[in-house]
Amino acid sequence: MKKIYVALDDLLSLYSFPDHPFNNQRYFAFKDTLEKKKLIDLLGIIEAREAEIEELLLFHAKEYIEFVERKEKEGGYLDYGDTPIYKEIFKASKVVVGATLNCIDKAIEENTKVFNPVGGLHHAFRDRASGFCVFNDICVGINYLREKYKIKKILYFDIDAHHGDGVYYSFSEDPHLYIVDTHQRGIFPGTGDRSEKGRGKAYGTKINIDLGYGATDEEYFEELEDIEDFLGDIKVEFILLQAGCDSLSGDPITLLNLTENVHRKVTKILIEIANQQANGRMVVLGGGGYLISNIKRAWITIIEELLKNR
Ligand SMILES: [Zn+2]
Repeated sequence: MKKIYVALDDLLSLYSFPDHPFNNQRYFAFKDTLEKKKLIDLLGIIEAREAEIEELLLFHAKEYIEFVERKEKEGGYLDYGDTPIYKEIFKASKVVVGATLNCIDKAIEENTKVFNPVGGLHHAFRDRASGFCVFNDICVGINYLREKYKIKKILYFDIDAHHGDGVYYSFSEDPHLYIVDTHQRGIFPGTGDRSEKGRGKAYGTKINIDLGYGATDEEYFEELEDIEDFLGDIKVEFILLQAGCDSLSGDPITLLNLTENVHRKVTKILIEIANQQANGRMVVLGGGGYLISNIKRAWITIIEELLKNR
């Protein structure tokens, strides 16, 4: 039986925008629920740390990293109005990446599965912040897996209600990063049309499923049949799941009608692939989700599923 790990370190609570849907109540609600349900006793704990500048440089531009550090003292926004600057934002953003890298190290070291509730900042690009995301821990993580562990074939599955544009466009021409991204059509960032399947020699290595307003589990599971066909044709060495729960019914900033059963089903499918192909190695990242009860429901469901299949 493998030990399942979760990144729980109050350093992660620093990534919290004031008067904003992305705040540290999300992290604390998740932590409290793990404690109340006594799941915490069954899990190993991963500490967070600030990512080194050299690690950020695996994906981000030097000028952009310096821009974030400089802007922290100036205030305002890092983008056009979604990502406000606050004291310690530079440190907090490095902590998210450091935690995800620690999770990757642990997944490799013990051939197991690890969850970082504050990771999954899928909108950040190489040279800019976007949509509550400063540094893209997923993209840094992908390049880290390749540099440090020589792992090339990776599956990135994103079930957040928003399209993971920062990941998709950064790797759209990379044939070894397989992407499955399901999201709500017509909301921020407005990308991820079904016709977007990767570019050049990577064409066909990515799937975007844009769900209509109010899509239900039933509709999702229909899409999942095609996705499973796609997954059946690929071979991967590592899996990353961005498990945003803003795709659940009742989220204040999105309009899908999914339940945590989607999170359960996707997790089950990915566990099986990880165990068959990737030595059991998988890192789950919390992503978005702004209704606290949905955070408790969806992320805890994933933890329970990971524990069940140790
Ligand atoms: Zn989202």
